[in-house]
Amino acid sequence: MRTNIYKNKIVALLKNNHLLSIADIHTKIKGADYSTIYRNVEQLVAAGTIKRVVLGKDTVMYEMANEHDQHDHFVCTNCGLVDEVEQLSRPLPIGKYVITDVLFRGVCHKCR
Ligand SMILES: [Zn+2]
Ligand SMILES: [Zn+2]
Repeated sequence: MRTNIYKNKIVALLKNNHLLSIADIHTKIKGADYSTIYRNVEQLVAAGTIKRVVLGKDTVMYEMANEHDQHDHFVCTNCGLVDEVEQLSRPLPIGKYVITDVLFRGVCHKCR
């Protein structure tokens, strides 16, 4: 199946790169059109193999969903640097919200 070939390639790419956008993945996988990559990425998200990381209104990236490597993300609003940060325990009202991800925004040490 051609689609499985693409899924394997997408997973292999994300194992070697922390965060990639659909456009990044599309550029790196030769011979697949954008909609094929998009569909395969969405199927991998639905299967729980990879997860979607929303870094801004127009910035969506993907990474491996690894239960042994749970982290949050920091984005520099000046240069766009994205870093992994340790997950903090957050006292939020239980039952009021279901938190799916947390994003820290600020300026990195280079831009400060
Ligand atoms: Zn910066
Ligand atoms: Zn990450």
